[in-house]
Amino acid sequence: MSTCTQRIVVIGHGMVAARLLDQIGRDATEHTQLGITVLGAEPHRPYNRLLLGEVLAGRTDLGGLTLPDPTIHDGITLRVCRGVTAVRIDRTARLVYADDGSVHPYDRVVFATGAEPRIPVNTSQPQGVRALRDLDDCRELLAATAHLRHVTVVGGGLLGIELACALRTRGLEVALVHRGEHLMDRQLPADAATVVRDQLSQLGIHVHTGIEDTTAHHEQDRLSSVLLSDGTEHRTDLVVASAGVQPRTALAAEAGLPVRDGIVVGDDLCSPADPSMAAIGDCAETADGCPGLLAPGWEQADRLARSLLGQPDPPARQADPMIVKLKAVGLDVLTVGETSLPMPGARTVSLHDPQGGRSVQVTVDGGRVVAAVCVGAPKVAAELTLSYERATVIPVDPALLLVPAATTAAVPISDNPTTMPSAATVCRCNGVDKKMIIDAHLAGARDLAAIAARTRATTGCGGCREVVCGLLEWMDQANPPDRDVAQPKHDGNGTGNTPFVDSPEQAQEASR
Ligand SMILES: Cc1cc2nc3c(=O)[nH]c(=O)nc-3n(C[C@H](O)[C@H](O)[C@H](O)COP(=O)(O)OP(=O)(O)OC[C@H]3O[C@@H](n4cnc5c(N)ncnc54)[C@H](O)[C@@H]3O)c2cc1C
Repeated sequence: MSTCTQRIVVIGHGMVAARLLDQIGRDATEHTQLGITVLGAEPHRPYNRLLLGEVLAGRTDLGGLTLPDPTIHDGITLRVCRGVTAVRIDRTARLVYADDGSVHPYDRVVFATGAEPRIPVNTSQPQGVRALRDLDDCRELLAATAHLRHVTVVGGGLLGIELACALRTRGLEVALVHRGEHLMDRQLPADAATVVRDQLSQLGIHVHTGIEDTTAHHEQDRLSSVLLSDGTEHRTDLVVASAGVQPRTALAAEAGLPVRDGIVVGDDLCSPADPSMAAIGDCAETADGCPGLLAPGWEQADRLARSLLGQPDPPARQADPMIVKLKAVGLDVLTVGETSLPMPGARTVSLHDPQGGRSVQVTVDGGRVVAAVCVGAPKVAAELTLSYERATVIPVDPALLLVPAATTAAVPISDNPTTMPSAATVCRCNGVDKKMIIDAHLAGARDLAAIAARTRATTGCGGCREVVCGLLEWMDQANPPDRDVAQPKHDGNGTGNTPFVDSPEQAQEASR
């Protein structure tokens, strides 16, 4: 085993950089000797960006977003500089310069600079036009929505719809403007999108599709309206864009590295121009392009961790099942598999029931579910997801998959702690099953934060939170805390009781 003595500078401290640091800690050995400096432009501890919309919808608080601290290892010196932006890299002298005047020598640089939102709005002034990308955006939107009345969301993809619903929940008048012919056109067929549109209308959201241009108008420095390319004019106090992202590449480009959409990297995640420069997450462009999603970024972080530790590449990991679920109250939308591309040889059966507020479609091939779209049909969605994930054999007539089985219990078996099989996946984002949660609980992880620190469950899309809470309650009943022989002392990774907090900073204070 080789001994590592490298100085690594990580630029960016978002979700993918946080995963890299944690994975390095988990994979480190007694031979590991690393000096890691992290420069993060945001002043906050790393937090779960995916749940910002949930904060806006009032379903979680900012404190709940803070990610667990990385696993610490003796051979690693970790220096985290928050609120510090890397501004220049001298590849000849091997130095990274930061905006606070600090200079950081390196052997390896990791770009984890993420992406910035696209704002496709014609406007002569920035006032009232913004996006939801980071925690400060979220705070400002929360403050703004307390006194504003009319808001326009630009972008009718998954995140735009979630955002529109969240803002509507806060009592605002919401218009949702989308360039495509129908909503969520990357995932949904047109008839399913019509049902989504109807449901949004019932929630009081005004939907406009096929809009090529959105132009903001200001009166005396205040946003007053938007004019859409179909001639509609909407009174608006705020425009929030949710129309995709652009990888942050300027620093890498200025350092002379090849950049297309993202920072170009090979299979080893290093720049072809300089093997000492790696890029992961939203800023990186691999052979698969720039997906702008968390799962590929985490997979890259795990691989790069091993490479920085001088360990062999793990066997290629099978691609995670593609499951997209919309997080909004009153709207059930789920897609599994690749739903936008034709699948030659596969058979597609659909049930479209706009009056009943549902539209279900399943694609089968070789006796298995390979893709599905479910709108307004949560039970069918749960069954199809299970069938897709476990590749179960399906009925000869696939149409039988489109209505809930008469025997289906109100609570899916997979959500019931007692009947859930040990190997049932609880956190799909992190591959955590029921047994791993039970083991963590038995080892002393008694609350959500501790479970997250130990297993990583709940740190992705957050969709498994309720199931994890159910498992914790169930385990507490079977094994009450006061029966513990020894409770592990607080280890800084959230194993203690964290009082209510409303910001990551307070959460940090609380966990000290
Ligand atoms: C509201 C919302 C919902 C989302 N929902 C989903 C979802 O359901 N599923 C999914 O897969 N993905 C989702 N995403 C996308 C997901 O959040 C990103 O794919 C993921 O956060 C990428 O992580 P990253 O670390 O690469 O980049 P980021 O999280 O963008 O972090 C990059 C960090 O680098 C910092 N930085 C940039 N330049 C510098 C510099 N020069 N010096 C120092 N620091 C710098 C930035 O300030 C930032 O903190 C969502 C995103 C948002 C905003």
